[in-house]
Amino acid sequence: MPSKPPLLSVVIPVYNEEKTIPELVKRLHVLIRILKEKNGFSKEDIEILFVNDGSRDSTFDVLKKYCESEPGFFLLNLSRNYGHQLAITAGIDTARGGAVAVMDGDLQDPPEFVADLYSKMDEGFDVVYARRRKREGESLFKLITAHVFYRILKKLTRFEIPIDTGDFRIMSRRVTDVLVSMREEHRYIRGLIAWIGFKQTGLEYDRDERFHGETKFSVSKMLGFALDGITSFSSAPLKFSSYLGFTSAFFGALYTIYILYLKLFTHDTIQGWTSVMIVALVLGGVQLIALGMIGEYLSRVNDQSKNRPLYVIEKIYSVKRNSKK
Ligand code: UDP
Ligand code: MG
Repeated sequence: MPSKPPLLSVVIPVYNEEKTIPELVKRLHVLIRILKEKNGFSKEDIEILFVNDGSRDSTFDVLKKYCESEPGFFLLNLSRNYGHQLAITAGIDTARGGAVAVMDGDLQDPPEFVADLYSKMDEGFDVVYARRRKREGESLFKLITAHVFYRILKKLTRFEIPIDTGDFRIMSRRVTDVLVSMREEHRYIRGLIAWIGFKQTGLEYDRDERFHGETKFSVSKMLGFALDGITSFSSAPLKFSSYLGFTSAFFGALYTIYILYLKLFTHDTIQGWTSVMIVALVLGGVQLIALGMIGEYLSRVNDQSKNRPLYVIEKIYSVKRNSKK
């Protein structure tokens, strides 16, 4: 490991991407060439940090071979699968670059575009995120749910979380340092970065199709991720349940007055069980919703209070073994 930190680190989380890696490495070499030609980079100015997130296929072996033979390429091997956001976190924590870029390893994020993101920073931006112009090869379901989710999140938060962006972005050292200091467990990294502030901007790109294989995100994983996003940055759902509670209590009180009136001043007092059932059902429903919301937050508080490390690194592989950390 050279003592001088590189100008740029590129963090790439990978999980079961064995078929994609040779092409990925080829494209990364194109990126390095562009940076050399356009930005006057030397070989030491860039480090590539693959984070192997507990892959079950031969991803580890393939990457280890590359990283042990190519200076500037590092493989951070996690002890098991921790998920996309924590894999990114591990990479960002370890990255030493003056700027840190994050991109997916499935070639949906074109590696060459990192050079454009890097150049854009020169205009005085601390964060340049890549904004998807179009999405190739994504299901209609994913397109619609993503569209709706980003707009809900925007309504719920007080600061700007850019719409239609993933984690494909570049950030300055000072933003990276703040991000590294944020140790929350349920991480919605693009939200955390938006929270940090400074000058941020977007640059449009065309999101490619996956080079090989399928998305690693099931519908339930996506839902969990969406909930992390919302609960990390807004207590609106908590408030929503109390509004709902207040509203139903208000109407309940009105209804009680009405029933009392019937009872005291009229003769048709015996109301069937219908009204009782309605009240019981509505209240029961409201209580369940409120409890569920509280549960969502509580489980996150519970997780956070354990204060565990976010991930465990098995080892870092590079040309000179054990030279990192
Ligand atoms: N990934 C990971 N850990 C996981 C799931 C995915 O490191 O548990 C990696 C994956 O290899 C890819 C990136 O994160 O490089 C994005 O994953 P994917 O393409 O499945 O997500 P999508 O593009 O569908 O949102
Ligand atoms: Mg993908």
